Amino acid sequence: MKFDKKQIGIFIAVLSACIIISGTAAALTFHNTSKKAEPSPTTVTVSSSPEPTPTPAPTVNPIPDRSAFAVTPGNIPSNFTMSDEKIVYLTFDDGPSSKTQAVLDILDRYGIKATFFVTGLSPDYTPMIKTAYDKGHTIGLHTMSHNYATVYASQEAYFADLDAIGEVVSGQIGYVPCFIRFPGGSSNTISANYTKGIMTALSSQVNERGYQYYDWGGSVGDGAEKTTEQLIAQGTSFGQTNNLVLLMHDSESKQNTVDALPGIIGFYLSQGYTFRPIDRESYVPHQNVLN
Ligand SMILES: [Zn+2]
Repeated sequence: MKFDKKQIGIFIAVLSACIIISGTAAALTFHNTSKKAEPSPTTVTVSSSPEPTPTPAPTVNPIPDRSAFAVTPGNIPSNFTMSDEKIVYLTFDDGPSSKTQAVLDILDRYGIKATFFVTGLSPDYTPMIKTAYDKGHTIGLHTMSHNYATVYASQEAYFADLDAIGEVVSGQIGYVPCFIRFPGGSSNTISANYTKGIMTALSSQVNERGYQYYDWGGSVGDGAEKTTEQLIAQGTSFGQTNNLVLLMHDSESKQNTVDALPGIIGFYLSQGYTFRPIDRESYVPHQNVLN
């Protein structure tokens, strides 16, 4: 079959038109493809957090008015009987510190409220007291100086220190709370090095002033000395107690306590416990006063 020049010309023209049309189509296709490839503003970014996915936080209830937690002589918390409910009261001593934000972030992820017995040890972090309170956590007083020689030098010295941290906390949350924890707990014997019988005197005097002191039913251990695994093992060994007040620490040197927290929370959730902040109706653990 032979083509004359005219036929070849038509053929070339048709071929050229096809190339132009398919080229345009390809360009359009490419344009559409590139449009589809643009990231959608609703794209969900995947978290790079190495933490295990926590149980979804329950619906957040409005934070109640807690001005009734203010210290009031003649009105001390006095529930010394455990309820039948399985409750953990996480309590963090010695903060606020550089670790407080990490502790709050973990508690937020699990939708858990806890209690912070605070000090004046790290003034740079004092505003974290209000941050924690505004999230619904309870604030209690631990000590201003956390110096045993200072706070247990005399009854007057103890109350001067307590009043000082009370003033700091009042500046953050608007009142002095009635919840306190003695440095070393009420059963400490270190205080005997400074004043014989001071814990016996203080344990009744704080009540007379409207404060209640909270010891603990279990301690996670020292996050500066133990490994994360050891802290989890110790912190999860109290599953036979219904109302567990668990002592933990929020301080610069205790990163291991922060690292152990998800494991400890996960254990008690798996055992059917709920987590609550201390309030005036909470179980009050008292140890035996030994000095
Ligand atoms: Zn302490």
